[in-house]
Amino acid sequence: MSVRTRFAPSPTGTLHVGSARTALFNWLFAKHHQGTFILRIEDTDQKRSQSVFLQDIQESLAYLGIAADEGPVFQSQRLPLYQQAVERLLSSGEAVREEGAVIFQVKPQSVSFNDLIHGTITVETSLFERLVLMKSDGTPTYNFACVVDDADMRISHVIRGDDHIANTPKQVVLYQALGLPLPLFAHIPLIVGADRARLSKRTGATAVADYRAVGYLPEAFVNYLALLGWSPGGNRELVPTEELIQLFDLTRARKTAAQFDQQKLDWLNGQYLKRTSAEQLAGLFEERLRSHGLLSNHVDKAWLARIAVLLKDRLKTLQDLEEEHTFFFTDAVQYQEESVAQFLRKPGVADFLRGLKERLSAMQTFDTPVVEAATRGLIAERQLQPKDAIHPVRVALTGRSVSPPLFETMSILGRERVLNRLDHAANHLAQ
Ligand code: GLU
Repeated sequence: MSVRTRFAPSPTGTLHVGSARTALFNWLFAKHHQGTFILRIEDTDQKRSQSVFLQDIQESLAYLGIAADEGPVFQSQRLPLYQQAVERLLSSGEAVREEGAVIFQVKPQSVSFNDLIHGTITVETSLFERLVLMKSDGTPTYNFACVVDDADMRISHVIRGDDHIANTPKQVVLYQALGLPLPLFAHIPLIVGADRARLSKRTGATAVADYRAVGYLPEAFVNYLALLGWSPGGNRELVPTEELIQLFDLTRARKTAAQFDQQKLDWLNGQYLKRTSAEQLAGLFEERLRSHGLLSNHVDKAWLARIAVLLKDRLKTLQDLEEEHTFFFTDAVQYQEESVAQFLRKPGVADFLRGLKERLSAMQTFDTPVVEAATRGLIAERQLQPKDAIHPVRVALTGRSVSPPLFETMSILGRERVLNRLDHAANHLAQ
């Protein structure tokens, strides 16, 4: 049997982390089995479906690298198919019209299906006597359209969230009435926040777009999502996408809720940042800085790559770039008030900064060892404690009391910027 899975979002909201995880599991399962992954847009609710949400879903999936082999297929364009199925159930007498709607009359019975994660589930249909197939506005209900489509698209495995587990027996009844073969089902556990309640905006970001905006690397985010409710075994955590595909298997999916762990995501992202080459990282920096208006038109790639090497092990996400390291890219340095007060407004500091400016303006080159030797030379001549000189220079150049290693930072900033900032700090800040 060839494996065919689908992801079936309704474009009534942005792509939620939980839905993204569902999409990922379907995609990984299909890829693992050399199967087909289909994107189906469940947009029959015209009032709540919006094109901005569709766009968000598609962009978020693209960011994650989850590409559909078939689709997107839109339910709103398949109404005749649902209509045909309804006619069959009406003519067999299993469904009836009621006030413009079509209702399926459920016979009292117990229905069972085999869930790949939860085992056999048996439910009495007395729990859901009436099943609406078509609403009075002529659109199908979720349960009905889902069955017609999953059968028509020859879906082999329906992998979806636990929140649908109560719908599945209703769908099984409809498969039976339509004489259609059942797919296999796998209901994956919900994702909960740190408070063990369903992941919500209250406890953190829930939209994939938010994580993308913060600058999580797609591969890190995918790795993290895969671990939410699944494990490759052997306590492994760092699993690149190619390996996820090789290893993915529903038998290792967990039954119980998966807790979203921001620290683990940050850690994983750091691991992937470390493994990214300086050139690739420079490319990501460029894209990000441009979108934040922090780069002039011409940027020296080699210069960005130097910054990448310096920051690689320090960044948690790409957002740290514009939050903590803008001093590399703009002369409008943001000085932290408490750092200025603590390190610059001290007797002797202005004088030292002026001396350093003079010393550095005489340098032939501005390589890191040259800058370091010149600065340390002046510190020794003035008989200062290195820390009493280095902290003020750091604040003068970066606006902050914590920065990447100072001399390399100075060399990257370049002579002109360094001299201007030393001058500004000596004459305006250190008073
Ligand atoms: N449109 C449904 C949802 O977004 C699809 C559920 C399913 O996978 O059957 O929850």
